[in-house]
Amino acid sequence: MPKRIVIAGGGFFGCSIAMMLHRRGWHPIVVEEADELLTQASRVNQARVHGGYHYPRSLMTAYRSRQNYEKFRTHYRDAIVDQFTKVYAVGRLFSKVTADQFGVFMKRVGAPLQEAPPKIQRLFNPDLTERTWIAQECAFDCSVLREMLRNELRMAGIEVRLQTLVETATPHPTGALARLSDGSEIECSLVFNATYAGLNRLTAASDLPLIPLKHELTEMALVDLPKELEGLSVTMMCGPFFSFMPYPSLGLTTLSHVRYTPHAHWFENEQTGAANPYQTFDTIEKHSNFEMMVADASRYMPALRDAVQRDSLWTIKTLLPLSEIDDGRPILFQRDNKLPAVIHVMGGKIDNIFDVEEEIERLVGNVEI
Ligand SMILES: Cc1cc2nc3c(=O)[nH]c(=O)nc-3n(C[C@H](O)[C@H](O)[C@H](O)COP(=O)(O)OP(=O)(O)OC[C@H]3O[C@@H](n4cnc5c(N)ncnc54)[C@H](O)[C@@H]3O)c2cc1C
Repeated sequence: MPKRIVIAGGGFFGCSIAMMLHRRGWHPIVVEEADELLTQASRVNQARVHGGYHYPRSLMTAYRSRQNYEKFRTHYRDAIVDQFTKVYAVGRLFSKVTADQFGVFMKRVGAPLQEAPPKIQRLFNPDLTERTWIAQECAFDCSVLREMLRNELRMAGIEVRLQTLVETATPHPTGALARLSDGSEIECSLVFNATYAGLNRLTAASDLPLIPLKHELTEMALVDLPKELEGLSVTMMCGPFFSFMPYPSLGLTTLSHVRYTPHAHWFENEQTGAANPYQTFDTIEKHSNFEMMVADASRYMPALRDAVQRDSLWTIKTLLPLSEIDDGRPILFQRDNKLPAVIHVMGGKIDNIFDVEEEIERLVGNVEI
């Protein structure tokens, strides 16, 4: 079939890329290893639609987030949850930015901040908290997002092959040959490697150069908030602090902590090689860090001591090493050096989808059919 494209990975990025290509006249097929779309990072995350506040040390990430924020709210409005008050606070000790710096930075990127009212300020320990603001930031419901994408793909007539792995992508006169775990082979113009934690499993199996990545095994505790904190979401910036956000698909709240959410990490690059990250994930024993998260977070917000843990969400967080410097979230959109018909894509956050769309627009104009 002319203009055939194989998309490895049926997460938010893989499904959205399929729609973008379809709209531009290509014939994508989405191949997903799990038995459902959006089961990995696209389901297990903090559900924050980033409004720029979270990256006060990376101007580019914060600025792009703010630009993408309204677009995301509009495009995915059925999945948006905003019936809560979003509070950002700056810690007095160990913060990498001061309250003044935070305020000035947000003004620069156009992210609105309003001094928190006294009833919210009183929830914080003033010895450890420099300032608190109300911000404009909402959450997304990953189940609704999945439903939206599933419907879009169905209406567009895009084939989705579940429980199927893209095992390799190799050179072929059409561009690339994708070998799937169901025994089929697809001749195509391009293969999008949108497998997030699995990026290097595909490159390694295809004898392509490894992409330098860092993986973290992460835990977010799922909690019921005490009455005093209901309807609130708080993010303490910018250092070894905590955040709690609504997790709409389960009607609970995630509690995460910069120090205690990552349980282990490992790198992948040409020196270290690449192991199957999902196997590594399975082999690491998981003992919740909830007690440590809540013990530390309640020093800043004493009411958090009464948060009740219901469960924990565990997953692999994958980062580009560049993020380590300023905690930014650049996108990976890279043609493979050895096999240019393979394009590796990873968005560090969900609103990066609009940055990816710009890259696709550029690419499609440059690909010969
Ligand atoms: C703990 C955590 C918190 C986060 N919090 C936020 C947040 O609050 N806000 C935000 O915007 N972003 C957040 N993110 C980032 C966001 O979740 C990711 O940017 C986004 O979900 C990545 O989507 P994806 O489609 O690339 O990856 P995924 O959803 O992981 O999709 C990749 C898919 O590829 C499949 N796969 C892998 N290998 C193969 C193969 N060879 N063949 C076929 N299928 C394959 C996997 O099964 C998976 O379904 C967070 C991430 C984590 C981990």
